[in-house]
Amino acid sequence: MIERIFHPIGQGAFYSERHTSCNINIVYDCGTTNPRLLAKQRVVSQSFRKDDVIHILFISHFDKDHISLIDTLKKAVKKIERVVLPLLHDEQKIFLSNIYKALGQSRLAKLVSDPNDFFGIETQIIGVRPSSDTEIGEIPSLNVLEINETRTEIQSGTPLTINGFNDWVYIPFNYQSKTRSNEFQNKLHNEGIDVGKLKTYPDYLLYGITDVEKKKIIGVYNGRGIYKGKGVSGNINENSMFLYSGPSCKKDLHKHSWIRGHYSCDLSICYIDIDCHSHRVACLYTGDGDLNKVDIRKLYGRYWDLIGTIQIPHHGSGKSFKATPFDKGGFLCPMSVGNKNPYRHPSPIVISELFLKRNFPILVTEDSTFEEDIH
Ligand SMILES: [Zn+2]
Repeated sequence: MIERIFHPIGQGAFYSERHTSCNINIVYDCGTTNPRLLAKQRVVSQSFRKDDVIHILFISHFDKDHISLIDTLKKAVKKIERVVLPLLHDEQKIFLSNIYKALGQSRLAKLVSDPNDFFGIETQIIGVRPSSDTEIGEIPSLNVLEINETRTEIQSGTPLTINGFNDWVYIPFNYQSKTRSNEFQNKLHNEGIDVGKLKTYPDYLLYGITDVEKKKIIGVYNGRGIYKGKGVSGNINENSMFLYSGPSCKKDLHKHSWIRGHYSCDLSICYIDIDCHSHRVACLYTGDGDLNKVDIRKLYGRYWDLIGTIQIPHHGSGKSFKATPFDKGGFLCPMSVGNKNPYRHPSPIVISELFLKRNFPILVTEDSTFEEDIH
């Protein structure tokens, strides 16, 4: 059996899959907007046993709400064997790590600038090259246990397997968008911050910047000063890596033919059981991707008939949503949202459009969990 859990992390992202017969664990993103809250840390530390191994941790992108609890995860398990993350251009890497340094988030700065150092020698780093392809072609699958290097790169769309186990593949796709972080950069520029230098000099924060400028960066990020409001928290990245997790190809439909979803809210208050009896056992994780820019139906066309669960991107934001991929209906659509998030996620339009096409929007908050058991 495979247990797929959308954990109650609130405004953030933390999803896991466990192949119960061999205790293989994978995680997609691990973060929240307020990682200092003990309750949030517990959600992560209590999801695994001390002797568990995370065989692959996938990181969709480097926004705080998707990575800020990785340190907690590291401490909670025996080891994280390998990490699959989107490769960034040097400019983007230097820029993001400088921003995290300005925010006083030195660990996140380290994760962006030097993931090998962040995770330590026990962990392999697999970078996924950015791509603007519109369709994933036939790329030979790669058994991650056969990778020996501590650091390697793969092409977007490469099916990864763990020894071919359960005929299951993980297919990451690193889509790069130019427009997303520009809004943030424009705001910095308008405050008189030299964005060019932030992108060029890794040590700019140490030597080249005044306290006033640092405060301005924090202000723009958090929505203070002239940018009063919700800020850009959780939206400063150009990349977002999609991930297909499911059977390798269509001829194996018969193998995975039963899926059951549990939705629990406040544990005992409500409990919904969805029996799907479906062959659509695969899940498409979308991080904070933008469905207006990436046609997921075309991109994952070879696997589309196997996908029954789609994580709604960007916490149900209306801006990142497009309804056409959901036309055929019947998709289970979990989305992570904080109970009292300032961004007003999810958008009511997203919810109503999903319902209109007979899909199932599922809100995963601080006190609700969605779990699927795949037999
Ligand atoms: Zn996010």
